[in-house]
Formats: sequence, C-alpha cells, structure tokens
Amino acid sequence: MSFAIHGLPVSSGIAIGHAHLVSHTSLEVVHYMLPKNLVAEEVARLDAALQTTRSELTALRANRPQQAAAEFDAFLDLHLMILGDEHISHAARSMVEQEHCNAEWALKSQMDELVMQFEAFDDAYLRERKTDVIQVVERVLKVLSGHPGHQPPTPQHDSEMVLVAHDVSPADLIQLKPHQFCSILTDLGGATSHTSIVARGLNIPCVVGLHHARELIKDRDMLIVDGEQGVVIVNPDKNLLAEYKLRQSQFVLERQKLKRLRTARATTLDGTRIELQANIEMPTDLPQVMENGAAGIGLFRSEFLFLNRDDLPDEEEQFSAYRAVLEGMGEMPVTIRTYDLGADKQLKGVTRVASNPALGLRAIRLCLAEPQLFRTQLRALLRASVYGNLKILVPMLSGASEITQTLQLIDGVKQELKNQGIAFKEEVPIGGMIEIPAAALALNIFIKKLDFLSIGTNDLIQYTLAIDRTDEEVAHLYDPLHPAVLQLLALVIGSANKAEIPVSVCGEMAGEYAYTRLLLGMGLRQFSMHPAQLLGTKQRVLTTNLPEVTFLTQKILRADDPIKIRELLDKLNAA
Ligand code: PEP
Ligand code: MG
Repeated sequence: MSFAIHGLPVSSGIAIGHAHLVSHTSLEVVHYMLPKNLVAEEVARLDAALQTTRSELTALRANRPQQAAAEFDAFLDLHLMILGDEHISHAARSMVEQEHCNAEWALKSQMDELVMQFEAFDDAYLRERKTDVIQVVERVLKVLSGHPGHQPPTPQHDSEMVLVAHDVSPADLIQLKPHQFCSILTDLGGATSHTSIVARGLNIPCVVGLHHARELIKDRDMLIVDGEQGVVIVNPDKNLLAEYKLRQSQFVLERQKLKRLRTARATTLDGTRIELQANIEMPTDLPQVMENGAAGIGLFRSEFLFLNRDDLPDEEEQFSAYRAVLEGMGEMPVTIRTYDLGADKQLKGVTRVASNPALGLRAIRLCLAEPQLFRTQLRALLRASVYGNLKILVPMLSGASEITQTLQLIDGVKQELKNQGIAFKEEVPIGGMIEIPAAALALNIFIKKLDFLSIGTNDLIQYTLAIDRTDEEVAHLYDPLHPAVLQLLALVIGSANKAEIPVSVCGEMAGEYAYTRLLLGMGLRQFSMHPAQLLGTKQRVLTTNLPEVTFLTQKILRADDPIKIRELLDKLNAA
C-alpha cells in the first residue's frame, strides 16, 4: 500500500531508495526478517543469550572483590532486575515470534521503548536509569554476537538505501559520513538541531520530525524522499515513481549548472563584495569546501573532534587537526570555534542529565568550568596559528565576565607558550558568537572587547523564542521571521557595521536562500554555511540589487504582522 508521511525538510533534493531501518541508540544493529521455519530457533537463541547474561551477572556478584563497594551489589541487582523485566525479555521474545524479526532487533526495539519512557521521567535519578537499561541490553547483544544466527540478507549498496531511524545523535551521524546513504529520515528532531545540521552537510535529502516513520516504514520498503517539501512517499506506484525520477534528474541538472559559479566573485549587481564562507565539522570536510569555492572557513565546530570516543583528544591530536585545516585553506581565513559541548553534543559516558541541557553547562560555560580542558584546546589552537590565517571564535557568551575570563585564559596560555619558547601568532583575532538575546542587546560589551562577531541564528532563535531546537513538538514555533528575531538581527548587524567590527552569520539562516537578500538588506556582508549551500547563495547574491533590497528590508523591519512580513519577503525575493 502506498502512503505519504510529512516531516520537517532539512536538506533538499529528491532521493529514491529502499528503507534501511536502524535503532536509535546505536547504529550497529541490523534488522532482518526470518523465514517462518527459523523463528523457534531464533527465540531459543534469544533465550540462551538472556540466560548466559544472567549467569555472568550472578557470577560477578558472587565473586565480587572484598574491597568493592556495597553499591557494586546494588548495581548488579539492578541489572539483574532489568534483565528479568518482562518489558525486555518477554516483549522481545514475542516480537520475534510475532514479527519474525531477528533477536538483536527485537531487543533493541524494546530497549528504545524503555529508554523513551525513562527519558520522560521528571525525576533526574530515574531518568539516568536509562543508562542501566542500555548497558544490560548491550551485554546481551554482545553474547548474541558470539552466537550469530540466521545471516541477514546481503545489504544493498549504501547509495540505494534510505536510513530510517527514530532518532540519531549528531555523534552517530558524523560516523555515517563515510557511508553513502541516499537519504536520512528520523522521527525526532528539529530542523536546526545538530543532527539536522550534520545531515545537511551530507548533502543528501533529509527529513526529520516524522514522528512515526520507523513504525510505519518496513525494512526494504521503496521510498521517495522529497527533501524540499519534507514529504516521504512509501511504496509509490509506477506513475509517481516516474514523475519523481524526472524531478530528481532536473534537480541534479540544476546543481550541475551551479558548479559553473565556483570561481565567480560573489558580488551584488552594484559590485559590492560579499564574503561566502563554509561551516565544517571535521578536517575531512575540506574537499567539499574547495569544490564549492568557499572564501574561507567561517565556522569549524571543533567539538566534533571530541565525540564518539572514550578519551579526549590531547593537545597534539587537536594541533594536527587545526593545522591540517589551516594549511588546507592557505591564505584564507579559518575561524575555529572553541568546543561547544553540552546540550545535544555530550561527551561519551556523560550520564549527568541536566533538567534543561540547552540552558545548562554548555559551550563557554563548560570551558570555564573545566579550564584545564580549555587550556589544552587553546594551546593547540595557538600553536597551529603559525600555519595559516586563524581566527578563534567563542560560543555562547552572555556577558562581560565570561569575555574577560576567556581573554585572560588566552593571555595566560600565550604567556605559557612564550615561556616555553613555542611559536604562535600574537595577533590571532578573538571573536564571540552572538547567540543569546542578552548578548545581542548588550552588544557594546562585545564590540569593545572582541575583534569580530558571528551571529548563531540557530541558538539566537531558540533562546529568543524559548523553543528547544531539538524538539519536533515545538518546531512549528521556530520562526526566523518572528519580528523579535528580525529586530535582534538588524540590531546586531547595524551596530557592528557602525562600529566597524566584522560581523557574519553562521547559523542555518545564512544558507537558506529565502533569507539571503533579507540579510543583505540588513547590511550583512559575510555569510558562513554548509559548503553545499554556497553556490546557490552565490547565485542569489549575483542577482541582488542592493539598494532595492535594503529599502524593502526596512519595510519588513517595520512590519509586525506575520502575513505582511511573508508577503514582503516574497516581494524581496522576486525583485
Ligand atoms: C548557531 O547557534 O547558530 C550556531 C552556528 O552554532 P550551533 O548550531 O553549533 O549551535
Ligand atoms: Mg550555537
């Protein structure tokens, strides 16, 4: 049966491929169907794995070392209890019996359900117990992996597969970069969550916030993904398939044509030069930056170096990564943001869950709370500065004392390097991200103390409108055209221009073609975005009549009715 589901478009294009379902906490478990005659055998395999795990835990408890704390017993008891809980063992068994899926998949699915229930608890202690559920299931999975059952069908080529997940963390997604899935779909997530940002960087059609895609779509279903409209068509008929294949080739053709703009200068019709730079997550993104003719790196989200690992990158490792990007970009500016960990980008093994992680110990707050970790990054950055045109960008600053502390730390690290006779550039510009309304409204503090500004619209919108950017339930309220957001943007860009301090926008708004002229009209001359959006943005810049859009933008800024604002924006984009 053919049907369509709707979500939030994240990355445009048309994909046509077969569904590949993955479970949400780890991407390692495959899903496959068993022939009816092997189901009983699979149930027995699951039972045996559960029994082995139980024996392992009981043995651990019996042989616990004398000096081990009493909590050790409590911990093992809890794990034994989870293992015996009917939501795990019985439910997984019935799932294999009824749905004829493999044991690993059944276990993972039950675990996901439980994890979701735990996540909904108000009590922080109970919420954290989801980690125990995950650990127990991982233990059983390990046992199962030692006793492989029926082998899954040979996977298709990645490029024909659409990854369907309930949720994928940014850390998981970054690991998928080397794969060539033709599209990614998730039930959860907002359009500017970090998962969506990484997905956009993969340059394939993606839709998030689909709510029930993983339940409704079956493994190997044929899917059409329309990344522009946020629509997924499941098991389309022949006519629909033919129509979308045509649209897909037209889209590819358009992209090909854009490639001609790679070396063109980004100037408006009156010759005003516009700086179009790229956002990256890893040094391996550099080829894409070059292919799309970026004028520099406007945002290197350095925290991605810290994800997906049990240890932390030491000074040498960080130094090599920063040096590689600086050397790769030659004379061009490279803006490296100090790590923005916390919220939806947690270090592995961090189990403390803040009640409001986006308002908690994130970005510069975490850096200042862990100065040793921060100093290591600053040393690596300053040492790398001699290999190119480095700018250091600090995320989520909210006021004067954080700026002062950061600058003092940087001075301290410089002094340390000097004392050790280690080379670095004395004049590395230090900039601040404007992504908290307080920063926008108290901009003078930033202008006085910093060398440049970069507006993070993703967070600025999140914090101005009090909308969690990762939560699809409130995604409809996430509105870049809200008059409050427009006023803040105009204020920051206008004040920075007046003070002659460089300002750019590096949030997702910078790469959305619908807003290019609006931002130009506010006076913005520097944009940073996903490499894949650079040429499309350049095309819009090249056809922009700056005095006209400046005039129309003033009208938009005077309007407060959302319908009127939309109408004026359409007019601006049609001009
Ligand atoms: C932003 O907030 O707009 C931004 C660029 O930073 P991040 O998306 O990494 O929070
Ligand atoms: Mg941000």
